[in-house]
Amino acid sequence: MKYTTKALHTKYPKSDIYGALRIPIYQNAAFEYGSSQELEDVFTGKIAGHTYSRATNPTIEELENKIKSITSSLGVVATSSGMSAISNTLFALLKSGDNIITTNKLFGHTLSFFQNTLVDFGIDVRYVDINSTESIKNSIDEKTKVIFFETISNPELIIPDIKAITALAKERNIVSVVDTTMSPFYIFDSKKYGVDIDVISATKYISGGGTAVGGLIIDNGNYDWSKYPNIEKFYTKFGANAFISKLKKQTFRNIGSCLSPQNAYLLSLGLETIALRADRTKDNTKDVAYFLLDHPKVKSVNYPLLKTNPYYDRAKEYFLFPSSILTFDLEDKQSAYEFMDKLSLVRRSTNIQDNKSLIIAPYHTIYSEYSDEQKSSFGLRSGTLRLSVGIEDSEDLIEDLRQALEVI
Ligand SMILES: *Cc1c(COP(=O)(O)O)cnc(C)c1O
Repeated sequence: MKYTTKALHTKYPKSDIYGALRIPIYQNAAFEYGSSQELEDVFTGKIAGHTYSRATNPTIEELENKIKSITSSLGVVATSSGMSAISNTLFALLKSGDNIITTNKLFGHTLSFFQNTLVDFGIDVRYVDINSTESIKNSIDEKTKVIFFETISNPELIIPDIKAITALAKERNIVSVVDTTMSPFYIFDSKKYGVDIDVISATKYISGGGTAVGGLIIDNGNYDWSKYPNIEKFYTKFGANAFISKLKKQTFRNIGSCLSPQNAYLLSLGLETIALRADRTKDNTKDVAYFLLDHPKVKSVNYPLLKTNPYYDRAKEYFLFPSSILTFDLEDKQSAYEFMDKLSLVRRSTNIQDNKSLIIAPYHTIYSEYSDEQKSSFGLRSGTLRLSVGIEDSEDLIEDLRQALEVI
């Protein structure tokens, strides 16, 4: 079965007593059992079941099972947000004295987590030029446990040489943790390209409608956990499932970043239509990129599928398409704001990969806390706009952009 068929038809473990075609929202904290012995057996893992929704819940488990089936991965943990997927993964893998290699061109709150939270726990975070395999190599030592990067950075749209980095990680026995939010599983086959652990903000493409905040941790089964020091105890007991078991029985359960059943339900619904939505935004983004490229008032367009883009070859090699985000430059802040305020279809908002097209001026909003030098090192200028292309009819979208460009 292919993607959408699996998303629609992955069976849930017990049939519903009313024959509901969709698993109900189990909006409850605790579960009861017919006898004391049965309750003990569920607690000790002799029989499968749920005890308390911070640990597991049927609606959330259904979402995890669907994703496991779609991705052919070893295991999945759904979490309360993309940030909790990232923090839980790293708390499970790292301990004081370890180091992690990454880049400073990351999603802002991920960078803040590295700079302000991880360091307080005695973890050495090493920032490298992610485009230089040499500089990654030079930063590795015996205390390096993890390499972390994003498949496509935002808003710069840097695409690292994913295959080369995961191969290097494998050779040096380092775990590759990759944020694939910009290009989730329908768009990028992370297992095939050697990624060990996928972390995803499900808030974006998976929700689609921008309905719920949520996160996913996926173990692709590429890493041999028998070689990982911080997980030995779990390897002895759970074998290949060591990492997922450590999360479920320790890190994730203890930190308490469970997803709400209501949000799991909404994300599960979104999952069913990713392929349709992605195929549509693939075409829309290309149409919009070419329209902007040809427009005299647009100074430059950054989209990896434009032939002059430095990441064109990697975009072609790795992805079904390199996400539905593009940036473009207008003359200055004033023209950018006049243009944005004239838009009637495209919404002024910070989210990405919503069904609706969204626009923002990152220089003055998302990155407003950064210095001018830092902003320019992220490739941002005062007149830069980030557009997240939605699933509208592309003629309508382009007409909206065209009429708004006329006023500036
Ligand atoms: C949004 C986002 C996150 C954080 O996800 P939340 O669900 O908002 O916590 C992490 N990484 C990337 C690339 C994102 O776009």
